[in-house]
Amino acid sequence: MYGGLGAGSSLTHRGADTVPGGIHRRFDLMTREWVAISPARNVRPLDTAGPSDDEEGCPVCPGGIELPFAYEAAVFENRFPSFVAEPPPPPAGDLTAPSCGRCEVVIYTSRHDTCFGQLAPVELGRLLAIWVDRSRGLWNDERHALVLIFENRGAEAGATMSHPHGQIYAFDHLPPIATAKAEAHRRHRSHEDRCLGCDVVTRETASPRVVTPNDSFAVGVPFAARWPYEVAVRARRHGLSRLGDLDPEEQLDLARAIRDVALRYDALFGFECPYLMAVQEAPRSQPDWHLAFEFFPLHRSRTTTKIRASVETATGLFLNDVLPEDAARRLAELEVPAAPIDADCLFVVEAAAGRMVTGRMGARS
Ligand SMILES: [Zn+2]
Ligand SMILES: [Zn+2]
Repeated sequence: MYGGLGAGSSLTHRGADTVPGGIHRRFDLMTREWVAISPARNVRPLDTAGPSDDEEGCPVCPGGIELPFAYEAAVFENRFPSFVAEPPPPPAGDLTAPSCGRCEVVIYTSRHDTCFGQLAPVELGRLLAIWVDRSRGLWNDERHALVLIFENRGAEAGATMSHPHGQIYAFDHLPPIATAKAEAHRRHRSHEDRCLGCDVVTRETASPRVVTPNDSFAVGVPFAARWPYEVAVRARRHGLSRLGDLDPEEQLDLARAIRDVALRYDALFGFECPYLMAVQEAPRSQPDWHLAFEFFPLHRSRTTTKIRASVETATGLFLNDVLPEDAARRLAELEVPAAPIDADCLFVVEAAAGRMVTGRMGARS
């Protein structure tokens, strides 16, 4: 249980009540990559019903089976995790490993009928504080090589409930894309003696692919975007490599930037566009790195979706049929009015004696 989150606020953290059997990792000799095997996830009760817009029976609404009490935002361990702190032993053999890590669910708000982009400014501020706090907590566990905060929005993106929520995974090893990015940073440092993140931010900021101006983050469609309308929100400051490094000004700018991107997707397509959102924090022992939020919307147009089809799945080579410069221009042109996010909406996060002591930040000096 966490402490209070400002006047009248509450944040709940509760642990998993069961440890699932059968989870483990297997090493693919052909790709030299790990695959997480989680048989219990296949019988998740929420999966069978599919996402419902119905508040009745929602497991995470206040009073529902997962959170049978009032709350304003909540974090709990996934009942059907792929990784746990104390994993069962894997099947015998030299190509298996325990699935050590964590899987948490973050409920953004008690309000069922809303979404990330439509959160009230104070709800968004609270969510950022929760992300900062959980990120710090999970990185403090020396076993974790990577912490990944993410959201799968919409049934097409794999969400199994419609209540606004995201997830956090912690891994005891580096998954393939994180490994590739870490290696690219190391190579750039050794060949150019510069930070790759700094150089990418400089390139992106000077490009025609900027979507929205922001003092602390470069917000734009990446040069080699894999997905149509993919957007990266990348920290400008060298040294801002994880959520815990955010200063209050950057926290505000981040809240503005990521809400703006989510609202642009909805404005572009005219409906709540399903997307994947992932927070790229510096892997353990990775000195050069810039914190980034990556958005991968699943639509190419109002009526067509982008799927990871044969070529992408079989070869890893992505085919993108939208020119990144055009995608950026279309996104940048949109009007996305929204309630202002100011310092009143932020929460201070201080780790103290294993619990989170928080309060509204109030006006900045
Ligand atoms: Zn709900
Ligand atoms: Zn840098």
